[in-house]
Amino acid sequence: MLVLFFWAGLVLAVLPWWLATPAGSLSDTGAVTLAAGRIVGLVAGYVMLVQVLLMSRLRLLDRLAGEELMTRWHRDIGGALIVAVLGHMALILVGYGALDGFNPLVEARVLITGVPDMLTAFLSAGILTAVGLFSIRAVRNAMPYELWRWLHMSTYLVLYLSFGHQFSLGQQLFQPGVVRTGWLAAYVGVVVVLAYGRVIAPVFFNLRYRLRVADVVAEGPDTISIYLTGRRLDRLKLLGGQWFRFRFMGRGLWWQSHPFSVSAAKNGRWLRLTVKVVGAYTRELSELDSGGRVWAIGPRGSFTAAQRTAQRSLLIAGGIGITPIRAMLEELPPGATLIYRASTPADVVLQREIDWLARARDLDVWYVIGARTDPGPRQVMSPNGLRRLVPDLAGRDVWLCGPPGFVESAHKIVRRSGVPRKKIHLAAFEL
Ligand SMILES: Cc1cc2nc3c(=O)[nH]c(=O)nc-3n(C[C@H](O)[C@H](O)[C@H](O)COP(=O)(O)OP(=O)(O)OC[C@H]3O[C@@H](n4cnc5c(N)ncnc54)[C@H](O)[C@@H]3O)c2cc1C
Repeated sequence: MLVLFFWAGLVLAVLPWWLATPAGSLSDTGAVTLAAGRIVGLVAGYVMLVQVLLMSRLRLLDRLAGEELMTRWHRDIGGALIVAVLGHMALILVGYGALDGFNPLVEARVLITGVPDMLTAFLSAGILTAVGLFSIRAVRNAMPYELWRWLHMSTYLVLYLSFGHQFSLGQQLFQPGVVRTGWLAAYVGVVVVLAYGRVIAPVFFNLRYRLRVADVVAEGPDTISIYLTGRRLDRLKLLGGQWFRFRFMGRGLWWQSHPFSVSAAKNGRWLRLTVKVVGAYTRELSELDSGGRVWAIGPRGSFTAAQRTAQRSLLIAGGIGITPIRAMLEELPPGATLIYRASTPADVVLQREIDWLARARDLDVWYVIGARTDPGPRQVMSPNGLRRLVPDLAGRDVWLCGPPGFVESAHKIVRRSGVPRKKIHLAAFEL
């Protein structure tokens, strides 16, 4: 349904141009190029609003589309937006250049220096292109995550900087009327949703629940569990499999927030996250003081038992990807099968609880330990291996969680073993 809304919105965005352009008015190449530039500009303006809406953290969207799909749309729409903005710019420069008798570069200089709001429009296109380049996986992985995140946030600046030229120069938007009012209303709507999702809802959440660190417990050589308490936790709407962005106040950690899944189902008294030390930030977490305040944004994510389509499930966890799955085991119907992949026995965490849950909830649990290339893991993590372990696999929901590389390869294996796409639920630890 959301896809239908998207396309209907796109048609609505371009419709004003169609209605205002008399048949036969596009008589020469310059006029056709300009018209194409205007259409692509309307598309870019609309796609920009959709992109910001996707970044708003509105829970309703997460619930309707699912987190994995939202992330994919965000990536795909981001690419389409950059192409549309650059296309709009190029077509307008060529079109006006043809009318004025300038080449596109001279036309760009004329517009930037002589036309109000053009400098900010060019700036916004530049920022957007930079954000796109920084989001290429190889570039992104080469820079500190926090730096990448702040650069990515500059997309909001693009929304602001590109606003002026649309209304002062856009053929369909500069005159007062229904189209201008509608476009303005769409902007206001998106900004309100953004403010709600990014500021108002988190402030209310944290004032209401007032989370604090209760205890930090070692789970293994490089894994800890952090227990949080707060007020009214019995009223918190939280499902096993969901995650928060946590900001631990104090000890120089307050300026960063990191995503962690809850590793136990809601119990009304405490929340728990289980963290593997992989870098500087996670290393610091074992030093957290009890009583320290925690700012949390969430709960987020649709990797929960609510998405279940069948009575029985197969859950496959890769390494620390066990955390959301451990919480879900309490909420899925009994009779599920869990495959827990880990490189070494020391990497298996929460084993006592999992074994206890296996007895209490009639679970089949398989600890598959070893390197990816070892015969055991290779045998299990293959279409035949999975079918042998779980003969009714094709009729089950399959839940995959872990680092992105693990989820990607396990997803391919599960697809090859005959599970329909809509029964496969993914949670890769990557935003
Ligand atoms: C939805 C989700 C749920 C997660 N749940 C868990 C969990 O339950 N337990 C667990 O141990 N880990 C979990 N992670 C992974 C965890 O967030 C990262 O391991 C952690 O942020 C790494 O921080 P670092 O500075 O110690 O390591 P670094 O070496 O700096 O980072 C390692 C990788 O973690 C990611 N990362 C780093 N900083 C951030 C950030 N601020 N926000 C988002 N990603 C970041 C980047 O991809 C980076 O390449 C989850 C990740 C996501 C996206």
